[in-house]
Amino acid sequence: MNYLKSSIVVRLTTLFVGLLLCSNSLFSQDVTPCFFDQYTNKKHLAHVEQQIQAAIWRNSTHNSSRTSHDVFMIPIVVHIIHEGGFENISDAQVESQIQILNEDYGKMTGTNGDGNGVDTHVRFCLANKDPSGNCTNGIVRIKSPLANHQSYQRALLKELSFWDNDRYLNIYVVKNINGNVGGYSSFPGGPPDEDGVVVRHNLFGNTGTASSGVGRTTTHELGHWLGLYHTFNNGCGSDLCTDGDYVCDTPPQAAPSFNCATFNTCSNDVPDVNDLKENYLNYTPGTCQNMFTKGQSKRIEATLTTIRRQIWSSSNLISTGCDSIYSAPCSLVADFVTLTTEICIANSVYFMDRSLNKPTNWKWTFMGGNPATSTDQNPTVTYNSVGSYAVKLVVSDSTGSDSLETSSYITVNLPGRGDPLSFKENFDRGIYPPSTLTINNLDGGITWELDSMASVSGNYSLKINNLINTNYGSSDELILPHFDLGTAHPDSNVYMSFKWAYAKSDPTFSDEMLVLVSTDCGLNYSQVFYRTQAALATGPTQTTPFIPDSTQWKDAVISLNSYRNNSYVQLKIINVTDGGNNLYIDNIYVGDGSTATTSVSEKSDMSGFVVLYPNPNMGNSTFAFSLDRQRKVKIEVYSMQGQLVKSINEGAMIRGTHRVNISAAGLKQGVYFVRLTMGAIEKTVQMVITTPQ
Ligand SMILES: [Zn+2]
Repeated sequence: MNYLKSSIVVRLTTLFVGLLLCSNSLFSQDVTPCFFDQYTNKKHLAHVEQQIQAAIWRNSTHNSSRTSHDVFMIPIVVHIIHEGGFENISDAQVESQIQILNEDYGKMTGTNGDGNGVDTHVRFCLANKDPSGNCTNGIVRIKSPLANHQSYQRALLKELSFWDNDRYLNIYVVKNINGNVGGYSSFPGGPPDEDGVVVRHNLFGNTGTASSGVGRTTTHELGHWLGLYHTFNNGCGSDLCTDGDYVCDTPPQAAPSFNCATFNTCSNDVPDVNDLKENYLNYTPGTCQNMFTKGQSKRIEATLTTIRRQIWSSSNLISTGCDSIYSAPCSLVADFVTLTTEICIANSVYFMDRSLNKPTNWKWTFMGGNPATSTDQNPTVTYNSVGSYAVKLVVSDSTGSDSLETSSYITVNLPGRGDPLSFKENFDRGIYPPSTLTINNLDGGITWELDSMASVSGNYSLKINNLINTNYGSSDELILPHFDLGTAHPDSNVYMSFKWAYAKSDPTFSDEMLVLVSTDCGLNYSQVFYRTQAALATGPTQTTPFIPDSTQWKDAVISLNSYRNNSYVQLKIINVTDGGNNLYIDNIYVGDGSTATTSVSEKSDMSGFVVLYPNPNMGNSTFAFSLDRQRKVKIEVYSMQGQLVKSINEGAMIRGTHRVNISAAGLKQGVYFVRLTMGAIEKTVQMVITTPQ
């Protein structure tokens, strides 16, 4: 079972407001739909074209034993290459894409694929058996930095995970491709170890992180994999059949079209008809695509009866579990995960089913929990008594069942008693991770590291490299031990202090540093310190890596006097990256002092800060913000398509810090924008709702 920690991601930017307004054109303008033309080798294409043309001729003149009702079933393996974030898409999202492929290639009645085209007789199946003959759901998950994919690294990507391409169509789902490419595919007959299709996670399927409801990027890319060119290949060309896209019945097209408007860009066709905006091999948005032509279907058949004839052979379908009589012999395996196993009294735990081989029934038993039993797949359970409790899950389907029981799985504490003061950490022992702190790096990418180039006094500091971090908005937390602030001397000030150093790399990049405090086991956090832009910088703006000299460190001194009655105080320092420059931390201290050297005014920073946490979340999050005076507050959640999906009207709220819970029950997995309106002020934060990892 996995144990994941919650995390905070903050993103303060007006960019997302812009996206809300123009999200319909988001992908047609910002994303290169397909990298096929840049990727393919022209010499290789000429050779393969001869084979395809010969096969088209053969198939048209020789009546093969195939009947028009036979289908070409293609076993698929989907490799999800992820970094542990929302790009680790759900099984359901993968299955939604397979469904779309079958609708589109099968011209299934009543679906989006039922346009004015033909049934290609190609069908797709997630493999039920892996290359060794073992049970599989056809989905492989691999955590790797290659999730940020560059097409020149395609060989490396396929070294991570690759199933024999004569037997399986390898599809790779990644976090991004060359920054802004939607997908690309190999052409038939290329190097076997580079065979396959790569698609960005948010263009895959029509649920979860999928940003559109149509999922046509993969339909398009598999067209290339099956031997089709873009409809605008070679522009208008000189001959409708032997030039252009080598398909007679697709009208010639001078250039790709990125919208659903009607164009007629070439006049060398007779009769002169409009460009085929409905064709899957155009660049038009998936919403206006719904067809393959008969000519394209013949090219696909030619590819499948020559270069790719092995993959749909009946012997291969049996060995991959994609034959029509296959019935799953794979037995159920009960499993589950939770975000945490240790909570404070009266808090809740979200249990996520991770059982294998598709159970249809779930029976949970929660010792000490409320409810004590549940038949939901993913229940939320509240624990109202201190103790250590077992959890049992029994999963079943019509063929059998499996169970998993873990004793002492959930530990419920009173908000206990933290460590006595004082606390010091200067990193000079050179131990990483520092033994006194916990580093929470949710995105698995760049995080806090030990640095020997800069230190206030001694050998080391802790640094985070925002300069090379392109995962904008990701947060990295330094979690301090829990403290009993009641151990402070009664006449002293209780405070936290540390030194920091930072330089900007660009006037517009706004890395952020926050300090948060919780007194209820992390259920709620208050922000007690915030710096960004000029208030964060301690050195001059520079595009090279910032290394502070001894004069470029600043003191953070944060009063904790208002928490001195709390015996269980959690503190964390957070960096939120915006791709700026290095941030250094050194000489952390939590303790008391007899003089009034302490409290700093955070007034100017307390106006209008916005923190959404945890983020990504499983559907429940908290919006924390401060008001400089009484203002009317409204919170709205928008989908990527700009649709308002939730609205919380708080009315007038007084000056100070507030927290509002956002329950996103009913919202599916994906990316949302949360807009906070405070009187005339608006802030928009990206929110990711994720599923179990
Ligand atoms: Zn393409």
